[in-house]
Amino acid sequence: MKTRDDALALDRDDPLRALREQFALSPDTLYLDGNSLGVPPKAAAARAQQVIGAEWGEGLIRSWNTAGWFALPKRLGNKLASLIGAAEDEVVITDTISVNLFKVLSAALRVQAERAPGRRVIVSERSNFPSDLYIAQGLIEQLDRGYELRLVDDPSELPAAIDQDVAVAMITHVNYRTGYMHDMAALTQHIHATGALALWDLAHSAGAVPVDLNGVDADYAVGCTYKYLNGGPGSPAFVWVPKHHQGTFSQPLSGWWGHRAPFAMEPSYRPDAGIARFLCGTQPMVSMALVECGLDVFLQTDMQQVRRKSLALTDLFIALVEQRCAEFPLELVTPREHAERGSHVSFAHPHGYEVMQALIARGVIGDYREPHVLRFGFTPLYTRYVDVWDAVETLRDVLASEVWRAPEFATRGAVT
Ligand SMILES: *Cc1c(COP(=O)(O)O)cnc(C)c1O
Repeated sequence: MKTRDDALALDRDDPLRALREQFALSPDTLYLDGNSLGVPPKAAAARAQQVIGAEWGEGLIRSWNTAGWFALPKRLGNKLASLIGAAEDEVVITDTISVNLFKVLSAALRVQAERAPGRRVIVSERSNFPSDLYIAQGLIEQLDRGYELRLVDDPSELPAAIDQDVAVAMITHVNYRTGYMHDMAALTQHIHATGALALWDLAHSAGAVPVDLNGVDADYAVGCTYKYLNGGPGSPAFVWVPKHHQGTFSQPLSGWWGHRAPFAMEPSYRPDAGIARFLCGTQPMVSMALVECGLDVFLQTDMQQVRRKSLALTDLFIALVEQRCAEFPLELVTPREHAERGSHVSFAHPHGYEVMQALIARGVIGDYREPHVLRFGFTPLYTRYVDVWDAVETLRDVLASEVWRAPEFATRGAVT
């Protein structure tokens, strides 16, 4: 690509172009962090008003029935299902990824304790999102039955690490730092061939890349709604369990929302027969209701189309950074191979933190991840080709002028 006009021409021909209108984008920011927190769909503000005013304010307690609040985790789970290759009644929206991971990892270990009690290893990657590892560590300690977390340093080491001792492989499909994407079908097949169960974290996949959970015969999955799915800050996450695993074991957070008859107020726990057993307690309805606004935009397109544009955007970003910023010490961290790339691109720079702060000060919002990584998310529903062009020009400017050396850009906030 030679000129900004070339980028504008691509935007004119973009089949997803009209969807951008459905998002409340601020005119002075160029947002490349939808992989961390999606932007609000315009419908969200009106929906929040409706939930607070009509449903909560006027409907009050009646809204659990009349506004469908109680059914929301399952109804929205069914809406999300098509984006990840799930079937009806296999997904619920609830809690956080960390909490849902605790539930499904426990359930998976219980299945294996019955089927293959000698298997005591959980395999994952050292570069996995830390909370996933912390949850596994906490559960292992809680169970106190000699489970062990085996971590590999490189994705290529996973197949060899998944051997006869492994109960569960807990893998994040797209790595949050590098953007590396696993071959979910091939890895799941390998996991099953060794007799282990496949648990996938879709945090950076749902709404970012096509996923076919039933097609690859995965066992469990979790993911969030506030990243690519634009559900809002802290919007509840999701958990997927296929029909054939739903009845096997109940999850350990045996709260009343997972009970077979929550309002029978029985003194003993009996799990729901289906996916609702993966619920625990009362859900944040204001936040959960807004998840639907994000899903409704996705339902106007399909993940193949989203993926085509995502790859075009990330290809363009990589090419332009390499052309326009060639003299600066930027190193591509994300794979060039399409099959190994999610929807974000990371470059390492020795002063990555400061460079990112300087970019943000100029209205180009990406984020920074330790160590040294500048991360840029590409969200095809609202990212334009011209945004890619402008972001790279700003990056070039920040690097060439060395404005990032200003002391204010070295100060770190609580959230980086
Ligand atoms: C974002 C992310 C999380 C976040 O977990 P929460 O418990 O919802 O805060 C977990 N795992 C991965 C891989 C993530 O990218």
